[in-house]
Amino acid sequence: MISIEEAITIVKEHTKPLTNHETKALKDCLGKTLAADVFSPINMPPFRQSAMDGYAVYKHDSNTYKIIDEVKAGDGHQPRLQSGEAVRIFTGAPVPNSANAIIIQEHVSIDNNTLTANNPITLNANIRPLGEQTKKDDVALKRGTKLTPAGIGFLTSLGITEVMINKPTSIALVVTGNELAKAGKPLKYGQIYESNAIMLSSALNDLGYMNVEIFSVEDDYQSTYNVLQEAISNNDMVLVSGGISVGDYDFVGKALLDLGVKQLFYKVKQKPGKPLFFGKKDDTLVFALPGNPASALSCFYIYVYTALQRVSGNEHFELLKSTAKSISNFTKKGDRAQFLKAIYNNDKVEILEGQNSSMIHTFALANALVYVPENLHEIAINDTVNVILLPIN
Ligand code: AMP
Ligand code: MG
Repeated sequence: MISIEEAITIVKEHTKPLTNHETKALKDCLGKTLAADVFSPINMPPFRQSAMDGYAVYKHDSNTYKIIDEVKAGDGHQPRLQSGEAVRIFTGAPVPNSANAIIIQEHVSIDNNTLTANNPITLNANIRPLGEQTKKDDVALKRGTKLTPAGIGFLTSLGITEVMINKPTSIALVVTGNELAKAGKPLKYGQIYESNAIMLSSALNDLGYMNVEIFSVEDDYQSTYNVLQEAISNNDMVLVSGGISVGDYDFVGKALLDLGVKQLFYKVKQKPGKPLFFGKKDDTLVFALPGNPASALSCFYIYVYTALQRVSGNEHFELLKSTAKSISNFTKKGDRAQFLKAIYNNDKVEILEGQNSSMIHTFALANALVYVPENLHEIAINDTVNVILLPIN
């Protein structure tokens, strides 16, 4: 059994960005990762731009100026100022080349066409220089940047309409278990509702992964083998739920090895999620997650998330971490490191009741995990603890 740190290192070592790229309309790229540097086709701003409402002046020694014209946002004309002249100007308007400062309107007195500056004028004040934000042909955003609303807005402000992104990662979810029934139908004795498929596909969708196919399979060796074979040969990543433990009807491990999946690790010294399997066949990554819903989701956020971000070429592949003061007591049993469902708010963290790996209710209330290392056994109120922030919208 390996430690969490070793397991994460192995995940990072065995995942690399996919090389399938495509050009896509920028409007369809929210959450996608740039596969190539994007160069700016223009200077931004594309002209000297007024940052304020006021008066553009050609500075001279006196503090009075003659107002000769007006330029508002969108105007295309360019008045020529002589020394001592001013034009009325508004935010976003092009600043005439002959003007060398803008005085904000709150700092002037106006008498007909004469302006008096109430304060000393600073050269270039309130003028956004040409290309201040981005210069033509400079890299606007680097390869590996995940496109946020701001990123899409920024590239559009440069006139860009399409970008090269990594092709969507195709992911198969394989759900195992004879006891699983479909929600919406009455439960028979011994059955529970299957919930991992929709939970994991929601977690994937939440991160922008939409190319997800779901398979269900009974606890039977041959069926498991067949379904896994299909899932592995057609996808970049396969996530299996359940059947990876040591019970007589857990066939996932054997089927994966018989299919030629190379085991990179099996079993991590952690709670929940001890029987986690990570392997690879050709370029397809396989995670077999324990079936207990809270274990499956914990493993998803700690390991699968990292792998997904790497595969997508995203530079930021680890979840945000922080420290916080605990407002709860907690006693850890056993010597495995533990991830505790928690609510993080304002540098404080509440460790929730119900940390059992089958209890997904607690996870439904959580926005963070508290990480309790192997050698830490007690958390007291006001102790500083490590917090992992969940990437949930
Ligand atoms: P397993 O890892 O297959 O031994 O399953 C561990 C526990 O998780 C058992 O109590 C299962 O009934 C439960 N479980 C497994 N798969 C699912 C699923 N897809 N949805 C809800 N619970 C599950
Ligand atoms: Mg099972």
